[in-house]
Amino acid sequence: MVMNEVLRNDWPLQSEARKFYGDPLDESNLVIIRPAWPITASWNGNPVKGIRIHRRCAESLDRVLDSIWRASDRSLETIREWGMHLFGGSYVYRNRRGGFGLSMHAYGCAVDFDPARNRLGDPEPNFRNVREVLEAFDSEGWEWGGNWERPDGMHWQAARTK
Ligand SMILES: [Zn+2]
Repeated sequence: MVMNEVLRNDWPLQSEARKFYGDPLDESNLVIIRPAWPITASWNGNPVKGIRIHRRCAESLDRVLDSIWRASDRSLETIREWGMHLFGGSYVYRNRRGGFGLSMHAYGCAVDFDPARNRLGDPEPNFRNVREVLEAFDSEGWEWGGNWERPDGMHWQAARTK
């Protein structure tokens, strides 16, 4: 049981992320979530033991991943077709790419998958065709970057832009 879990679809605005998630440098807020399938780091192909994520959205992410696994009929082949085995990162202390202010990754409330097929700026990211994955995140209120003005199709976050 993760403490301080909030009701789904009740994520803070980005501008309130600090109030909601606390000090981004406080790594004691981070927990590890393990998908039911093996994931590898998209940047070097090495196996990844788990996804470091803020405890306040960890149970929600766990539910997202579980529903993706069920939607795939627990098929590793399907997961690979969708690109959900390619982990692109979660917690990292950095500013927004090409923007101002801290990235939601710095708060540990954002995840990236399959960056190669869902590049920053690509208006037609592959995930646009993967309804099962979009719906799984959407049902937990996670915002997808693929619909942003500057699309970031690899990216989901437990924080709202508006
Ligand atoms: Zn991201």
